[in-house]
Amino acid sequence: MSKTRIQGPVRLTAISHLYAIAIGSNRPHGRYGRPAGIVQAAIARLDAEFGLFDASSIVLNAAYGAAGRDFANAVALVESDLDPIAMLRRLKGLERDFGRRSSRRWGPRVLDLDIALWSGGGFRSRRLAIPHPQLERRSFVLQPLAAIAPNWRVRGGLTARHLAHRLARRAPRG
Ligand code: AMP
Repeated sequence: MSKTRIQGPVRLTAISHLYAIAIGSNRPHGRYGRPAGIVQAAIARLDAEFGLFDASSIVLNAAYGAAGRDFANAVALVESDLDPIAMLRRLKGLERDFGRRSSRRWGPRVLDLDIALWSGGGFRSRRLAIPHPQLERRSFVLQPLAAIAPNWRVRGGLTARHLAHRLARRAPRG
């Protein structure tokens, strides 16, 4: 007697992307304390919400522009099946959860989360550009990115490590 093979439902696995998220803070927070504590808490939150592939160490950087206070920065690699627009929306929600109110470009901010890169390559819409348009000019993103993903090709075949070195040679303090 031949057995009928019962086939299970076809499982459609969602495509998972890797995102490099640039994290920055230059304002204290009632619960998490100084900017470094806020960045640490943001990394934990990204891990809880998405799944952390890796995270750089937290670097302290001197203030720039009108920001006034020093920054703590890091880069986290997270895995998600969200598309870039949905990911940006989630990150903005997370910023709000940390009490970010300032909309001034260089103003003090409790938490700033940007999409530096994603595994899908380039992405461009009215609200979002990946790679992040300022990436090549920001040593506070390139340095931590190069520490955890040195061979990630950012643009024009150039790797994170190459761009970080190039920027460090041009402007040692970024
Ligand atoms: P921000 O000053 O970091 O809050 O960014 C302000 C706006 O920049 C966001 O609301 C986005 O619409 C836009 N934006 C463009 N490209 C990016 C990117 N790669 N990551 C995050 N925001 C971006």
